[in-house]
Amino acid sequence: MQSLANEKSALSALLSGRPLVWLVCGLVLFGGGGLTLLLSEAVRSAEEEQLRERFNLAAGERISRIQERLDGQLRELDAVRRFFSNSRVVTSSEFQGFVEPLLGDTLVYSWVPRVAGAEREAFEARARSEGLKGFGIRDLKDGALVPSPRRDEYFPIYYSVASRLDQVPVGMDMASSPERRAALSKAQRIQGVAVTERLRLIGVVEREASGVVLAAPVHWSSPPGDTDLRGFVVSVMSLNLEMEAAIAPRSLESLVMRVSDVSDEGHEQLIYQSGEAVDSDLLQRRVVPFADRQYLLEVLPSAAFLAGSPFSTADLVGISGLAFTLLLAGYLLLLLNQRQHALTLVAERTLELRQREHELQQSEERWSFALDGAGHGVWDWEPQSGRIFLSRGWKTMLGYAEEDVADSTESRYRLIHPQDQPLARAELERHLRGASAVYQSQHRMLHKDGRWIWVLDRGRVVERNKEGLPLRMIGTQTDISSSKAVELQLAIAHGQLRGLLNAATQVAIIGTDLRGAILQFNVGAERMFGYRALEMIGRHPVVLHLENEVRERCRELGQRLGRAVPDFQAYMEEVTADGHYDEREWTFLRRDGSRLTCSLILTGVRDERDVPVGYLGVALDVTERKQVQQALEARDRLLEKLSARVPGMIYQFRMGPDGRFSFPYTSAGIHQVFEVDAERVREDANGLLARVHPEDLERVQSSIRRSAEQLAQWREDFRVLLPRQGLRWLRGESVPERSEDGGTLWHGYISDITGLKLVEQELRALSVTDALTGVYNRRYFQERLELEIARAERREGPLALVMLDVDHFKQINDCHGHEAGDRVLKSLCERVGERLRRIDVLCRLGGEEFVVLCPDTNVEQAAALAQALWQAMGRDPVAGVGQVTASFGCAGWREGETADDLLRRVDAAVYAAKQGGRNQIRIAD
Ligand code: GH3
Ligand code: MG
Ligand code: MG
Repeated sequence: MQSLANEKSALSALLSGRPLVWLVCGLVLFGGGGLTLLLSEAVRSAEEEQLRERFNLAAGERISRIQERLDGQLRELDAVRRFFSNSRVVTSSEFQGFVEPLLGDTLVYSWVPRVAGAEREAFEARARSEGLKGFGIRDLKDGALVPSPRRDEYFPIYYSVASRLDQVPVGMDMASSPERRAALSKAQRIQGVAVTERLRLIGVVEREASGVVLAAPVHWSSPPGDTDLRGFVVSVMSLNLEMEAAIAPRSLESLVMRVSDVSDEGHEQLIYQSGEAVDSDLLQRRVVPFADRQYLLEVLPSAAFLAGSPFSTADLVGISGLAFTLLLAGYLLLLLNQRQHALTLVAERTLELRQREHELQQSEERWSFALDGAGHGVWDWEPQSGRIFLSRGWKTMLGYAEEDVADSTESRYRLIHPQDQPLARAELERHLRGASAVYQSQHRMLHKDGRWIWVLDRGRVVERNKEGLPLRMIGTQTDISSSKAVELQLAIAHGQLRGLLNAATQVAIIGTDLRGAILQFNVGAERMFGYRALEMIGRHPVVLHLENEVRERCRELGQRLGRAVPDFQAYMEEVTADGHYDEREWTFLRRDGSRLTCSLILTGVRDERDVPVGYLGVALDVTERKQVQQALEARDRLLEKLSARVPGMIYQFRMGPDGRFSFPYTSAGIHQVFEVDAERVREDANGLLARVHPEDLERVQSSIRRSAEQLAQWREDFRVLLPRQGLRWLRGESVPERSEDGGTLWHGYISDITGLKLVEQELRALSVTDALTGVYNRRYFQERLELEIARAERREGPLALVMLDVDHFKQINDCHGHEAGDRVLKSLCERVGERLRRIDVLCRLGGEEFVVLCPDTNVEQAAALAQALWQAMGRDPVAGVGQVTASFGCAGWREGETADDLLRRVDAAVYAAKQGGRNQIRIAD
């Protein structure tokens, strides 16, 4: 430990040597920087001197050139003056011929004659005659020309030769402008050229509007007298034009030219400046005479002149000097640092090594604690001596205390499950032999509480002797019971799944990976397609399909999706995307070349993270199903044909648990029988029930309910009112059965029995009437009498009978024949019938014996009726027979009397009438 501390202090000493390095570098930087500064200063002052010289040279040249040009102007004007002085008469063309070559940058040369006030008109007339149209002497007033007022003398501009001038103000009196007049009079006074101050020129372009007018006097005699002034030659000069012509355009940028008129003491007028001047001590100025004027010419440097190149030589010297200094300092720093770094590294490594050595000593104790703590048991074994160390964690894992298990190889092996021992030993042997890099075994070990726990035992030989024999082996033991249990469960589940797949022998189940390579091909698939699973594993299921069909389906799907589906693989991907599945019939190609129609469900398989891992196809042979379906369809067609032949309607009628009626099935006959559509009544029978006659509807409905309650056959005759056929009689018959939901379902038949009903009515009428006379027969009388007695018993009115018997009818027969007898009977019925009331019922009891049943009639009223009938009998003789009479008996019903009793009493009354001599009426007692 002591040495470790020493090492550390040495390391810190090394680190403290760093400031020295920085000091050396600082010195180098400082020295280099200083030298560079001095050098660049020297270069800079030399450069400045050079610039000044260059400026002076350029400025001097500029000033000289301007002076030359100004002198040139004066010389030229003087030449024109002399031209006039030398000839007494100068014509316009002569003037033009002389002046034109002189025109350079001068804007205009003019001849301005002196015109006396008296000669004005003559002069104007001559000028006009010489071709100057509309010539007149005019004054310049507020920038415009107006005819001059009368004066003693005029100085009109007369001949003019101009360049760059739009229009020369010919005729303008020069004296009408104060500045010009001043110049003219000065010129006359000094007998030489006079120059105006700067003017705004007339008739020139804007840039050249600023200029001066030069005037020189011309006299008639030489030397000139006071009064012989002939006129002036005048030139006009643009300042801008003149100055720019004097300085080359190149230097316009680099030098600034300033011209001031300093003729008047104390009044300096700037007349021209070529550009922006900058603040600088460089300046050259010179006063230059220009005729009678003094011009101050100043030259200054412009920003462009001073700017020069972005880096002066002095800057370059400074920059390169500094860069060199920095490089030098950097290089030194690097060198020194590298040495320092090497020293530090050595010190650090030494310290690290010492620490490692120390840590290594502690680690061996620590790892066994650490592993124990992490739930692993640790063992340390010396195979040659057989000694073994088993950690506390190793023992507690199996529920033992430290002292419960001896530290020996044998006690360890005793705890391993006998079945697992051979494998564990074999693994260990393999590793000790050097045949495996790591020893690893999963086996069961006996827990102290008697159960077996699964452990993972791992280890490695860490030391071998020269012969390669293992000297030391260290290992860990981990409790894997819980994961083993899961593994076992998984294995069981997997086995069950496989079993299930193979048990489904009627279903083909094919599993593939994402590329479509078959992974599973169950027994059902083997049977259905004739391939062995082994042949199909790894192949693509498309081999089971028909090429044409696949192409067609891919095309269909592609059209639906709006993108290309090139093959079966793409088809599987598309239809199983987003958890969808595809179910449809496919034609499969079996191994023997035969074909099979199957319903195939295609789904995607996803792992627990919902990532697609493959596809699953489940195919069902639908050949049988199809046959059944075809048979069913054939049956349906048969039923349809048969029911179409039946004169009526076959139906299925249903009463739901909620009492609602419907017709799930009706044959085509429904159109004929009910004149409604099958569709209209499939869900709701009301459309059909509405056709039932209102008087019969209640009866029909209650009979249906009764049939449902008792599950008894339903049979009912009822009327319907049809839009086309009108009133019809129908008969329905059906058998009910209870359906699962608690409703009732009938199967039956309804037919039109209108014809039958008519026959029945006829028969019924026949059965209650007498064939000879057409009046009711005895049977009807008896039925009716019972009903009427029942009514009378309900106290709904009295009841009476009138009975009659033809007198000596036997004789009529005997005398006139049986047919005459029959005629008598018919005639009697007619006569009696005419006398009867609407409520009375005439019946023939037999032979020539009749009875009238009189409801709501007491015995007195019945007697009156009998009287009326007796009179009707006696009224006229019967043709071919003569007078026929009858004996009458009347009887009123009495409380509690039976039909037989009443009949007996009225019969007795008739008998009494017979006894009393016939042809009379007797009332029963
Ligand atoms: P009385 O005055 O006592 O009633 O005498 P009667 O001859 O009318 O009575 P009787 O009972 O002796 O005779 C009835 C006769 O009526 C007997 C029978 O031949 C005749 N007879 C019964 N039914 C018919 C029939 O339908 N047509 C004809 N022509 N004669 C009939
Ligand atoms: Mg009789
Ligand atoms: Mg009789």
